[in-house]
Amino acid sequence: MTTPHRPRAEPPSWRIAIAGGGLAGLALALALRRAVGAPVVVTVCDPALHRDPAQDKRAYAVAAGARKMLQALGVWDRIANGAQPILDMVITDSRLTDPVRPVFLTFSGEVEPGEAFAHMVEGGALSAALAAACRDAGADLIPAGVAGFSSRGSHLAVEIGQGEHQQVLEAHLLVAADGARSRLREMAGIGWVGWSYPQQAIVATVAHERDHGACAVEHFLPSGPFAILPLRPGGPLGHRSSIVWTEASASAPHLLALDPESQRLEVERRFGLQLGAIVLETGLQAYPLSFGIARRFVGERVALLGDAAHVIHPIAGQGLNLGLKDSAALAEAIVDAVRLGLDPGGGEALDAYERARRFDSFAMGVVTDGLNRLFANDLLPLRLVRDLGLGIVDRMPMLKRFFIREAAGLAASGPRLLRGEAL
Ligand SMILES: Cc1cc2nc3c(=O)[nH]c(=O)nc-3n(C[C@H](O)[C@H](O)[C@H](O)COP(=O)(O)OP(=O)(O)OC[C@H]3O[C@@H](n4cnc5c(N)ncnc54)[C@H](O)[C@@H]3O)c2cc1C
Repeated sequence: MTTPHRPRAEPPSWRIAIAGGGLAGLALALALRRAVGAPVVVTVCDPALHRDPAQDKRAYAVAAGARKMLQALGVWDRIANGAQPILDMVITDSRLTDPVRPVFLTFSGEVEPGEAFAHMVEGGALSAALAAACRDAGADLIPAGVAGFSSRGSHLAVEIGQGEHQQVLEAHLLVAADGARSRLREMAGIGWVGWSYPQQAIVATVAHERDHGACAVEHFLPSGPFAILPLRPGGPLGHRSSIVWTEASASAPHLLALDPESQRLEVERRFGLQLGAIVLETGLQAYPLSFGIARRFVGERVALLGDAAHVIHPIAGQGLNLGLKDSAALAEAIVDAVRLGLDPGGGEALDAYERARRFDSFAMGVVTDGLNRLFANDLLPLRLVRDLGLGIVDRMPMLKRFFIREAAGLAASGPRLLRGEAL
């Protein structure tokens, strides 16, 4: 007797909606599609997907762990040509009027031979590469925002767009990757603890005559850090760097209102002349600065990701790196659940994500807040103590190596993608 042919049971199809196609949201979508493919339908919604990514003139320090993740996702090769490794770091502490800026701390930027602790990457190029890779991997990218959502027990009804164009999507999990002022976090009833800094970050690309030697410089000035971050050669003078200039909120509007030559002179006073003459390649753009962390990273069938979950001071260039770690950890929790036949929006997957990410994000927020309070301060006794501390650290190679590995996001216990492993 022959046994009747039984059709093989198809694995269930899970739907995940990601509100926010910033770098964190796109990285999550790509990680999910590449790891599990067809059983997980991934939709990214963001009105900004209409925009040309090249409009984003910001550059980011992408830490070694995040770079390994982008490599594992097949994105790094698309942007590697435009990425500038940071091979050295120099930290100074002085006033604007001081005639010299003594160097208190230097770091060699290699975490392993041939592996830079971080690369400078232009935001527009990274965003375009991630969006293209998401499309290639079969994620749906919808250029409309998420207006709201409601529970239907086994799933959520997610409203996309507005008015007559509104559509409703069923999702087993909604990921709120909608940035620091996340409305979806509020809609999910998740509280927020945080404060604004009396500072703004002014960013621009500066062209200069001499090679930066792949060195990043952080001048601690009384109003806050002035960072010079090396970019790939190019621009009108042959060499380029990105600046992140922290300034008192009261002064920032005045600086932005200056004519271009006065702006250039103000930048030059802080940048110095060690790289020769400078020209502003882009205008100055200011960002308000704040610290904040969500009281929970997850709600019912909702997970917060990236700046929607935590916002930190850019003093250590770690905000996006934290967001990419979130994407790696959430992708891992979802993929592990799906492979076990569990609901990716259920408690187990979401608890695993929260356990992996909340403490780490809080710890980084506290460190960056402390550094900013310590250095954006002109009190003489405090300056003496911090400069003594920097000098001591500078003479301790083991401690420096520890700091640099932490900043590179290479902790052994981190998510698999951050170690360059497949999910
Ligand atoms: C001056 C400055 C310098 C920085 N430098 C660095 C650095 O060197 N390295 C680093 O790691 N980090 C850096 N950061 C931090 C970094 O910029 C952020 O952490 C990161 O961009 C956050 O990415 P995200 O995807 O979480 O959010 P976002 O980039 O804010 O993206 C959120 C997206 O959600 C969309 N959205 C909003 N509402 C909705 C909705 N209802 N539905 C759908 N979509 C919606 C928005 O259109 C947006 O595209 C810096 C920050 C500043 C201010």
